[in-house]
Amino acid sequence: MGKKGHLFIISAPSGTGKSTILMAILKENPRLRYSISCTTRSPRGNERDGVDYYFISDAAFRKKIDSGELAEWAEVHGHLYGTSSKFLEESFRRGHDILFDIDVEGAKKLYAKYPEAILVFISPPSMEELRRRLAERGTDSADAIEQRMKNAEAEMAEAKWYHQVIVNDDLARAVSQLKAIIEKVRLHE
Ligand code: ADP
Ligand code: 5GP
Repeated sequence: MGKKGHLFIISAPSGTGKSTILMAILKENPRLRYSISCTTRSPRGNERDGVDYYFISDAAFRKKIDSGELAEWAEVHGHLYGTSSKFLEESFRRGHDILFDIDVEGAKKLYAKYPEAILVFISPPSMEELRRRLAERGTDSADAIEQRMKNAEAEMAEAKWYHQVIVNDDLARAVSQLKAIIEKVRLHE
């Protein structure tokens, strides 16, 4: 069997800028594979099925849970989100590095299964700025923004058990910090 890849688990309160950062990182890193989750929430903005998420029904999601297809799953902001076991195992065995964008609960479950994973938490500079970014993104209803702000408080409290915390104040700096973390891990492989 070949060398195993590295697992990078990234969490952040919704609206922090995690997708923006990950998009920049993935563009520059062809060796990194993004784990496309499935979710029961509807696509927003320019999101595409099979690229950002696999958008599936509640029933289809429940079927995946029952058949053990998910390495982890969680209910976040009232919707179900989960990671495919098959994609993870295959990529991992082939030696690909994988980037996961998952919530704090899912991160805990995946870390219990893969204790060699690297956990990175991305934090907003402040709660006011988080609210501003959610509003500016223009993809969530007022209710959805309130729910995301409420969850953000609890999510921030979980940052303490992550290996690294990056504050997304300046976007370019946050991208280079995450890049440096990934490169450092690879240097020690
Ligand atoms: P997430 O994936 O964490 O939910 P997004 O990547 O969708 O967040 O970013 C939320 C909004 O914040 C977007 O409109 C994005 O352009 C903006 N944004 C991201 N990073 C920064 C930053 N460092 N400074 C200002 N705005 C940012
Ligand atoms: P959003 O709806 O903003 O795309 O994502 C909401 C939250 O769900 C984010 O915290 C994101 O990291 C999380 N999430 C996305 N995919 C998964 C997944 O497969 N599993 C878990 N546990 N959380 C996920």
